[in-house]
Amino acid sequence: MSQTGSQGGNQPVRTRPAGSARALSESYDTALLDLDGVVYAGGKAIAHAVDSLETARSGGMRLAYVTNNALRTPDTVAGHLTELGIPTDPSDVITSAQAVARLVSEQVPAGARVLVVGGEGLRVALRERGLEPVESADDDPAAVVQGYGGPELAWGRFAEACYAIARGVPWFASNTDLTIPSGRGIAPGNGAAVEVVRIATGAEPQVAGKPLPPMHRETILRTGAERALVVGDRLDTDIEGAFNGGVDSLLVLTGVTDGAQLLAAPPEHRPTYVDADLRGMLGGQPEVVSGEGGFVCGGWTASVKGEALVLEGEGVALDGLRALCAVAWTAAGDGRCGLDGGKGLARLGL
Ligand SMILES: [Mg+2]
Repeated sequence: MSQTGSQGGNQPVRTRPAGSARALSESYDTALLDLDGVVYAGGKAIAHAVDSLETARSGGMRLAYVTNNALRTPDTVAGHLTELGIPTDPSDVITSAQAVARLVSEQVPAGARVLVVGGEGLRVALRERGLEPVESADDDPAAVVQGYGGPELAWGRFAEACYAIARGVPWFASNTDLTIPSGRGIAPGNGAAVEVVRIATGAEPQVAGKPLPPMHRETILRTGAERALVVGDRLDTDIEGAFNGGVDSLLVLTGVTDGAQLLAAPPEHRPTYVDADLRGMLGGQPEVVSGEGGFVCGGWTASVKGEALVLEGEGVALDGLRALCAVAWTAAGDGRCGLDGGKGLARLGL
């Protein structure tokens, strides 16, 4: 995969979740929130999301919603959030379609034609940058751009992309998420569609979406954030995107990541903070301290015995997880922890 822009690889290796005496909603001026698994799931608001976001917003924090989904326009996303009880302006929504449209606009002449393999969100974003969406390889496009097109995307669209790419037209993708959750199961995402074109052409696209820098740059340009907190549920998109962008992150456990995945996370997937849900934005975060018997957080002490992570004590489940993270990440250094944390996680119900 071609990686666009620079990576934030010179950050120190994080070996434990950070503490914060102040509420995160006061320490950071802008929350860059992922949607699925953070704000809603299956179209419905996640528990505590509506109230937590309202409290953070009324306290002065700017809320922006950052999605890799290039199909839906900011208007549509904002309408959905507002319906859920989260009043949102379209300008508060940043999509991978917008990020890729900017990337394309920087590499083609003003007003150029762009062959679209995708949906309305992509067309709207291209027009916003003064580019002209076209449908055929015979329309003399200056670029091909591919974004999630939904179930209605016709197979012939891939053929148009291949014809143009074979002539040397540069190829861009909004994002490369292989799957997309639907109410009926896991469906192929834009990354799977990109693979179709890649296999047929042997070419490589430039990619904009999380975790790559063009998406983070788009969110900073559009929000004007000076001290941003990325809030997400996925380690390899949200948290890695924050790492690459050099900003702090909060992982919430309302989506796809479980405790075992968090303990095994390599440095670029380790969040600054971890909490159960969006209520974590509203308070401080407890310190994890290293003591004689291991790492201590709240009433819990975590340590290594043999090949296992051991958890002793009692208290708030999230504190136990934070202590386990400190042991696992410290043991792993700049790699992945292979120690078994299963028993400790089971005690925490995580
Ligand atoms: Mg998500």
